[in-house]
Amino acid sequence: MPIDPTQPYDDDNIFAKVLRGELPANRVYEDEWALAFHDIAPQAPVHILVIPKGRYVSWDDFSASAPDAEIAGFARAVGHVARTAGLVEDGYRILYNIGSHGGQEIAHLHAHIFAGRPLGRMVG
Ligand code: C5P
Repeated sequence: MPIDPTQPYDDDNIFAKVLRGELPANRVYEDEWALAFHDIAPQAPVHILVIPKGRYVSWDDFSASAPDAEIAGFARAVGHVARTAGLVEDGYRILYNIGSHGGQEIAHLHAHIFAGRPLGRMVG
């Protein structure tokens, strides 16, 4: 069920529970700004999610209201996860779904990292 990206942040969303350790996740990286874990239903040989530790519904409120240090910290974490997973040489894709047309289902910002096979050209 797609979410409304203009809704207020809900502390009961699944990824908030993962951040609090109330739900399990196959974690691959964590720092001050971000947590990364394998997607529970991978859509590519490598499918990792990176989520900010802050309370953001989607890329929309994050890009509009997060402090610069948090945006930088999160962006660096996404790149670090991809590099340390060995994805740079063959390449990878970062995807943010936003709202209904984007197909976003979980109301906590997450970057999808896809890799491990040619992903095809995707422009929309
Ligand atoms: O961008 P969107 O909100 O559609 O993506 C949510 C992603 O979260 C899905 O790829 C889904 O498989 C993943 N997920 C997960 N662990 C959960 C629930 C969902 O990795 N417990």
